[in-house]
Amino acid sequence: MLKKIRCLTGDIFFRIEDSFGKYKLNIDRKIVSILMYHGLETDPGRLVCNYLDITPESCLKEIRFYQRQGYKLISIDELDCLGDRRYNNNAYLIISFDDGFLNTFEHIRNWLKDEKIPVMMAICPELVENNGIFWWDEVRARFQLMKTDTIELEIDNGKPYFTKNDMVKFEEKCERLPHNNLLSLLCQLRNKTDYISEDQIRDSKYYREIMKWDDINLLAEDNLFSIASHSLAHELAINIPEQELKENSIKSRQMIKEKTGYDTKYYVYPSGKCSEKTDEVLSKCGFTHTFSTDASTNYLDSIKIRLNRFRGIGYGSTNLRYYAHKWNKEHKIMSPIS
Ligand SMILES: [Zn+2]
Repeated sequence: MLKKIRCLTGDIFFRIEDSFGKYKLNIDRKIVSILMYHGLETDPGRLVCNYLDITPESCLKEIRFYQRQGYKLISIDELDCLGDRRYNNNAYLIISFDDGFLNTFEHIRNWLKDEKIPVMMAICPELVENNGIFWWDEVRARFQLMKTDTIELEIDNGKPYFTKNDMVKFEEKCERLPHNNLLSLLCQLRNKTDYISEDQIRDSKYYREIMKWDDINLLAEDNLFSIASHSLAHELAINIPEQELKENSIKSRQMIKEKTGYDTKYYVYPSGKCSEKTDEVLSKCGFTHTFSTDASTNYLDSIKIRLNRFRGIGYGSTNLRYYAHKWNKEHKIMSPIS
């Protein structure tokens, strides 16, 4: 009870401080901050299953919060013009959505048109082409639907057991493996749970459908919409050989151009995993900017190829105290907040 009262009073204080401009940016150098989102979901059951998804309402409120603090929205295609005199603001904001989930489509379409919010969407063209399933959505669904309490899978010559509740542990293990090993581990999981059909996986709350080329092309009719490569099929840049990164990134760019007409120069690292070497490879493949998930802003005068992104958590009635803490933490260097 006491905790609830503290939370509520914290929220009220935050709202008052927000309306009095306490969180306003105070900077003398141009900065570019990028917010990263994934899915937009309203079903509470699905929100629990997919922790990166937030409600469309809290997403829009978060963008508005950033604007209130002094950020000006721009599209990624304007990034190289920010040195021009007409860009006389000091803080710029770019909105990005990863993975191209279908549950974002209607919202992005309305926001482009009605709210004039520019959006960069990072897609995996091979998955779009094949109406694929992201491997972690499949893993979560298989763990949930498996008939046994434990499953034994061979990893690195060992045979660890995973229980039904170990899906996160299993996913973390998968993320660290070279991509080919990840694929063979997924094969093992599929074989051991071969009684689960694809339809059952697609019916699971863990599965999120992705947009088709027609949907992406509808969004791309708007000049405020940009497309980034998110690899071919979400393979992590640091988990594949250099040559494969080169070939896959070029192929992803070509597929995006062929299917949408948009010649992207942006590469959004799946899971944010990257290195100086991967930047160098992608730069040679024609990408002018890469995007990580390092939660900090970017100073315009020190941007080379890679840009950091903040994870958008949504500005909602249940997280305002945490929101204030997060904002202060991420912006403390820029704003002298007492
Ligand atoms: Zn992703």
